[in-house]
Amino acid sequence: MEKKQSIIDQFKGQARLPRLAAPRRYDLHLKLDLVACSFTGVVRVGLAVAEATKFLVLNALELAIGDVCFADSADQKKVRPCDVVMDDEDEILVLAFDEALGCGEGVLTVEFSGMLNAHLKGLYKCAYVDGGEKKYMAATQFEAVDARRCFPCWDEPALKAAFQITLDVPLELTALSNMPILKEKLNGDIKTVYFEESPMMSTYLVAVVVGSFDSVEETTADGIRVRVYCPPGKSDNGKFALHVAVKALELYTRYFSVPYPLPKLDMVAVPEFAGGAMENYGLIIYRENDMLHDELQSTAAKKQRLSEQITVVAMHEVAHQWFGNLVTMEWWTHLWLNEGFATWVSYMATDNLFPEWKVWTQFLQYTASGLHMDSLEKSHPIEVEIIHARAVLEIFDAISYEKGSAVIQMLQSYLGDAIFQKSLSSYMKRYAWKNAKTEDLWSVLTEESGVEVTNLMETWTKQKGYPLISVNLNGHILAFEQSQFLLSGLAGEGLWIVPITLCLGSYERQKKFLLKTRCGEIDISDLFNSPSDCLGLSEENDPEKFKEHFWIKINIYQSGFYRVKYEDKLATQLIKAIESNYVSAPDKFGILDDTHALCQAGKQSLSSLLTLMGVYRKDIDYTVVSNLIEVCYNIVKVYYDAFPDSVDYLRQYFINILRPSAELGWESVSGEPHLNVLLRGEISMALASFGDEKTHEDAIRRFKSLLMDRNTPLLSADTKRAAYIAVMRKTTVASRNYFESLLSIYREADTVQEKERILRHLAASPDPDIVMEVLNFLASDEVRDQDIIYGFRGISLEGREAAWKWLKDHWDFILNKYGTGLLFTNFLTDIIALFSSNEKADEVEAFFANRTTLAFAMNLKQSIEQVRIKARWVQNIKQEESLPELIKQLAIKG
Ligand SMILES: [Zn+2]
Repeated sequence: MEKKQSIIDQFKGQARLPRLAAPRRYDLHLKLDLVACSFTGVVRVGLAVAEATKFLVLNALELAIGDVCFADSADQKKVRPCDVVMDDEDEILVLAFDEALGCGEGVLTVEFSGMLNAHLKGLYKCAYVDGGEKKYMAATQFEAVDARRCFPCWDEPALKAAFQITLDVPLELTALSNMPILKEKLNGDIKTVYFEESPMMSTYLVAVVVGSFDSVEETTADGIRVRVYCPPGKSDNGKFALHVAVKALELYTRYFSVPYPLPKLDMVAVPEFAGGAMENYGLIIYRENDMLHDELQSTAAKKQRLSEQITVVAMHEVAHQWFGNLVTMEWWTHLWLNEGFATWVSYMATDNLFPEWKVWTQFLQYTASGLHMDSLEKSHPIEVEIIHARAVLEIFDAISYEKGSAVIQMLQSYLGDAIFQKSLSSYMKRYAWKNAKTEDLWSVLTEESGVEVTNLMETWTKQKGYPLISVNLNGHILAFEQSQFLLSGLAGEGLWIVPITLCLGSYERQKKFLLKTRCGEIDISDLFNSPSDCLGLSEENDPEKFKEHFWIKINIYQSGFYRVKYEDKLATQLIKAIESNYVSAPDKFGILDDTHALCQAGKQSLSSLLTLMGVYRKDIDYTVVSNLIEVCYNIVKVYYDAFPDSVDYLRQYFINILRPSAELGWESVSGEPHLNVLLRGEISMALASFGDEKTHEDAIRRFKSLLMDRNTPLLSADTKRAAYIAVMRKTTVASRNYFESLLSIYREADTVQEKERILRHLAASPDPDIVMEVLNFLASDEVRDQDIIYGFRGISLEGREAAWKWLKDHWDFILNKYGTGLLFTNFLTDIIALFSSNEKADEVEAFFANRTTLAFAMNLKQSIEQVRIKARWVQNIKQEESLPELIKQLAIKG
């Protein structure tokens, strides 16, 4: 016992495996038993032993290890380890040999067995119903560090190897893996499926799916076979995703000037999946909601929304086949390279395929959530040191995806399309089949563009946070000052090289420069006197008219990752410009978002924010109005705690602001723009949740007709959500008929999207007892494990104490079931975020004092910080004593 401990101790506490040996090739044979939900396997790993060593150290977790032996390639001598020790904490398997293994090639053979787990990670079981009978299929989710739950391996992205996979599965099932099938052998009711050997790839991209599917297929112009696997009888629902995948392969092949490197691409939707989708090399696995498209039953409106979701997700995953799979991050510190790029590229590609969707404007919502997250003191840099592999899960967050993609967009718009694309193509060719670090990409961009990209970008990726740019105009001189923006109201230390863009009075009078120091000035006399735009105005030839049209917008189209604070005069002129509709939708979005953040940070009053919001009341741009609604929701949450007695007046004011956009009505008009469809849904939901009487009456009437006829034309997929909110807002323990009906609709629903829609709003009831009942329902067998998180998003303010109690009471259950998975952080962030008092923050801290693990430590701190930020905001609002009167006036004014 003592000896084993000392063997393990020398390898414990390391972020990465010791480089004693490197895998070159895995020959992996897995035998699956889907009745007992278990598997056995043998892996033969071709190794290059780097130096004479008595130890081999690799990763393994929750596996029982059987026979182990090492064969030296030079003399074919076989040796068995004298000790085989596993360490659950560091997830390593240490093999100790009596005599040192020599430097050179050898093959390590390990027999092992394990259970198909129910935690949606590693090699796991997914339940499905076949002819009324509950059965299991098997699927994998290895990213980030769960290949080790399926087979012993060197589970790090830089340790790429070739994989030859063989599966023993029940005869009647379909077996899929990264590569095409080489041959099959039958043995009674078991078949052995041999797959072709893969090119060099990382362990987190290895994948296996075994189940019952129907498929549709197409071949690209380059001869790549693309297949989409759907539940039996539903292959038509895979046709749209198939179309997108074929287009994506063709588009990326052109964009990167590198062909898709595998002979096939399969996409499969499985009934239980932790994330949205996973980009395994040659075998993308999806959550059903993100891939299946029920074309026949869908209304036009529903089709559009779903198409967009499916397209963006598929474009993201297919982009990873290059960015991530062909060129892989060297270590998890560079995860953002994978995710930031795949996200940015997915918008570029979607915009290319469906320009009418205007997805770049919607990309702003992405940037906004990155800006929000990164204004926390507990944020982290894009490039973050990972000291324990388990902690990687935490950085699949808004910083890696949203900030990552936003700083890429900032750089791309500064360098221009052509240079950017050419650089990416060079990068892809230089690092194909290898690994790269962030600085490798910057070097290539510096070489190709002649701009010092490394210096510029390191200020954005190596330090957390971003700047607030304060702007003053003195005569024709614009003065800039940067300081780190924090929602806590404090000023941080950071300093950035900021690509500043600005325009004056029109988008044709532009200027750009790099602000490299804390303060800077720029002379813009030329913009005052260059009548180059369509108005032909200059200050000299018509000072009066010029003054009327005068406004300055910094950060044109919000392509930069920073916020702007204007001096009063510039701010007033900008408000006039918004009213006159001179300002673009992205800029309107940005001005509101920045003001909202400044208000949260205590740098601007709530009354000034409310006045600004009034200016947006006639806007009908989808992205602008959805941001306006988001701001409304956030203000209600804190105002509820500041002045509970007058919160109904506040809600009424927001109803007044949103009502003009509600003219879109409830029913879609054939041929209307895609974004109107989306807007209708958002507006009706907001009006329903703010308690608008008219909306509630309409909603309940339409809900009744849905009860009579599930295909009623009175409710579309988008407006159903408003009806469900209205139903739940009216539900209490004493009045629960409609709630029961909604549960019946859930139980009968045959599409995953309908089930999701209902789950999202069930907890909106103002009755805490109902909220508690809903949370218990979410955790029951009636809701798939992966779907529980949908329910948290809609928890009402009145139900937050009940939700917190539920979380505490069920903590062991939650930890056990979701503890190290991708969904876990939702339990914390969605429930804790409902509070806005320091007392509650203290209580949450005390509860988790001895319950925190590496897997969620950072997310927990961020959630608590957000509660304290809101607590401070509540205090600030309370000090604006005239607010309740002002809000009453605004509400009455209509
Ligand atoms: Zn991704």
